[in-house]
Amino acid sequence: MPGWYGLLPPPPPAQVLRGRHTADWVIVGAGFAGLAAARRLSQLVPGDRIVLIDAQRVGWGAAGRNSGFMIDLPHELGGENYGGAREHDRKRIRMNRAAIEFSGSAADEYGLQRFFVRAGKFHGAATDHGLAVLRAFENHLTGLAEPFERLDGPQMKTITGTDFFIGGTFTPGTVMAQPAGFVRGVAEGLSTRVQIFEKSAVTSMQTGKLHTVKTAEGEITAPRLILTVNGHLESFGFFKKRLLHVFTYASMTRPLSKSEQAALGGEPHWGLIPADPMGSTIRRIGDRIVVRNTFTYNPDMSTSERQISQIGAAHDRSFRARFPMLGEMPMEFRWGGHLCLSLNSAPAFGEVEERVFVAGCCNGLGTVQGTLYGMLAADLAVGSNEQMVAEAQNEPAPARLYPEPLMTIGAPLKLWAMQRRAGREL
Ligand SMILES: Cc1cc2nc3c(=O)[nH]c(=O)nc-3n(C[C@H](O)[C@H](O)[C@H](O)COP(=O)(O)OP(=O)(O)OC[C@H]3O[C@@H](n4cnc5c(N)ncnc54)[C@H](O)[C@@H]3O)c2cc1C
Repeated sequence: MPGWYGLLPPPPPAQVLRGRHTADWVIVGAGFAGLAAARRLSQLVPGDRIVLIDAQRVGWGAAGRNSGFMIDLPHELGGENYGGAREHDRKRIRMNRAAIEFSGSAADEYGLQRFFVRAGKFHGAATDHGLAVLRAFENHLTGLAEPFERLDGPQMKTITGTDFFIGGTFTPGTVMAQPAGFVRGVAEGLSTRVQIFEKSAVTSMQTGKLHTVKTAEGEITAPRLILTVNGHLESFGFFKKRLLHVFTYASMTRPLSKSEQAALGGEPHWGLIPADPMGSTIRRIGDRIVVRNTFTYNPDMSTSERQISQIGAAHDRSFRARFPMLGEMPMEFRWGGHLCLSLNSAPAFGEVEERVFVAGCCNGLGTVQGTLYGMLAADLAVGSNEQMVAEAQNEPAPARLYPEPLMTIGAPLKLWAMQRRAGREL
């Protein structure tokens, strides 16, 4: 069970799609992108009938499985220090912030502030190489005129309780979310204006003057369709051989006792990104700690309990290296989740057939970019004059993957080499 979901009370029973329905809009996929598209549509065309449909419970998919860093700054996982070209990054920051503000207004509207905290994020270095990476990141931020604070080892210990990190960088613009709580809260808030069906996987789609999506027990017909299914865009026949299906994994401890918290020290709430993008992300949420690391290439878009438990051993090693004072800490939750990446870090966005719009493949920053492209898909579909729509349309499409067997052999090897490079940061 994904930990963030496990911390929430069980949701009321799902409303499953049964029988024939019609609507003005159908949105398939209720993650960050689908919820943003639905909310934006409900603002742009308030009288229209909007249906949002998901194969799972809201919050059960990747949207509720991530580490909850809603990052305003560039966050390029494929690079060495998260940064890219300066002009590109300036645009990225502006667009990311627009998405964060859109989410912030949802948090305010639906009373979700406890799941959406403007706390900033730490980057932590455990090695001299990591420190050099952070210095390069800081130089990049200086060039972008973005604020940051440099921290030395003792300052990092004051925050995290561990002397594992020899230095760090704090950037203030990140929101720390309880991702499952946030997306579930947004869905609940939206449910007075948007009809939401869960546990209703779309098994076929027919496009035309009216589009029809079918599930095991029902169907919906509508003139406009928005697909926000992330990597599953490929299952709908779009962006084939352009999307990289990567999984990443997390483990969450049981609650730490008062004496364990005293032995640990540090601040009760913080989120830390590794200096090396392939290292371990660590979050403390009061009495629990969450570790995320390891990327695997899963082109069939699924993982297994076996893979999750094998990677759990890597989480335990990373945890013990950072928190030796906590001994053999049992993990209460372990889970994996689907990331959709593209070789050129481009999203899948736009009108792919007449009145069929897509927003997906958010390259590891889907809490923010899923929100961004979801909301822009709604703007594009309605024909609003939002300036960012044109900017998004001018971005490149996801690049074609390398031919087989280069992907099957090369992608796991490349991930292995990048993770090995992370060394102690993992
Ligand atoms: C462990 C982990 C840590 C991560 N950490 C971060 C982080 O800190 N910050 C960050 O920004 N991102 C992070 N991510 C990535 C982030 O979770 C994703 O980028 C984000 O969820 C993408 O949002 P989305 O709405 O585009 O897609 P998703 O959240 O994947 O939502 C797509 C939805 O489509 C539904 N769907 C698919 N096919 C069908 C179908 N046929 N019929 C009906 N519904 C369908 C799925 O059930 C799913 O709910 C992390 C991911 C993982 C796994």
